[in-house]
Amino acid sequence: MKRSPNVLAPETAILQPPRRTRPAAPFTGLAEPVVRASTVVFADAASFDNRYADFYDGYTYGLFGTPTSRALEGQLSAMSGAARTLLAPSGQAALSLVLMTLLKPGDHILMTDSCYGPIRSFAASWLRAWGVDVTFYDPLVGADIARLITGATKLVLVESPGSNTMEIQDIPAIADATHDRGALVLGDMTWATPLHCRALDLGADIVVDALSKYASGHGDVLMGALSTNSETLYRRLKDMTRVVGLGVPADDCSLVLRGLQSMPLRVERSSASALVIAQHLAKRPEIDRVLHPALPDDPGHTLWKRDFSGASGVFSALLKPGFKGLENRFIDQLALFAIGASWGSARSVVAPQDPTAGRTATRWTEGKLIRFSIGLEAPQDLIADIDQALDHLTGLSNDRTAAKPAA
Ligand SMILES: *Cc1c(COP(=O)(O)O)cnc(C)c1O
Repeated sequence: MKRSPNVLAPETAILQPPRRTRPAAPFTGLAEPVVRASTVVFADAASFDNRYADFYDGYTYGLFGTPTSRALEGQLSAMSGAARTLLAPSGQAALSLVLMTLLKPGDHILMTDSCYGPIRSFAASWLRAWGVDVTFYDPLVGADIARLITGATKLVLVESPGSNTMEIQDIPAIADATHDRGALVLGDMTWATPLHCRALDLGADIVVDALSKYASGHGDVLMGALSTNSETLYRRLKDMTRVVGLGVPADDCSLVLRGLQSMPLRVERSSASALVIAQHLAKRPEIDRVLHPALPDDPGHTLWKRDFSGASGVFSALLKPGFKGLENRFIDQLALFAIGASWGSARSVVAPQDPTAGRTATRWTEGKLIRFSIGLEAPQDLIADIDQALDHLTGLSNDRTAAKPAA
């Protein structure tokens, strides 16, 4: 017999569904509600028994979807031109989820030599230990990827532009050659975001976007997204989240949903400022090379123009040989840039990166580079800050030359 709530002890009453003065009506605000849940409550025992029948779209357990996470997946699908999007706790988790799902012992994966460092480590350590054959390839391979594909190749990872070194890959050529041989293409398109490259349209089967970057946009959320047009692939990946136990918090989904609304404006501003700053840097006597595909003399410029509709605010720069070794001094001299990993936040961020040791298919001989993520500050302030830091280097370099004993 159901008892009247009025006779319940307070600690029991507070655990019953809330009473309202009128029935809960649908409520619509501008923001998606944050629905936090571990337990999902079912109307009756039979519905609970059958809960996995609707696993891919419905609600079974908070880890595998809430109205908030489903709303975010839907918005990301719309932005990426994808049939399906699946969230993961980080960009790295999204990448490793694909590798764990699609590869088994004896299989082969091809990975671009300038891919995101942590996924390279995952492949080189764990995948190899599990008996997966891992080959790194020259990012500029293009259609010649065909020569590297074996009967065991299941997956080709592309990332364009490459992390730190910014090589633009010929994704359509790689995708054609890969599909001809029955393998799949995974694209890490975090730099471009879905705004500036629809890699599914270029032939990628699954696209990863680290939402920790521009989509969240404020340096306070970790999340990743996988997008695909294949229902089969989506279901295989979703099944893997179930056995591995990967989900995302509704609060974080809400922050990303908010971030997405202003992402086009933020990326546009970062991109415009970054291009101006890159052009300015290229003219400075301390700078050897600016690695930014939107610069007309960048080796990837033509492909970038063909396949991308814009740039983001991330690029790298190399000091001239006379200034080599002073990268950290330059970075420490900057006043407006935060020093740190990750990027895509409102605040400009800078980091020293040395790709030398992380290469096996190609050689990186130019040593340490400076990776910039340009934020939303006024570009003239950032340029003034960079100029004073470079002027400081010139002083240091003159001292260094003066201190050298005469030959
Ligand atoms: C940052 C980044 C990732 C990983 O994202 P996290 O959310 O930090 O794990 C993956 N790929 C690229 C290209 C990235 O820049």
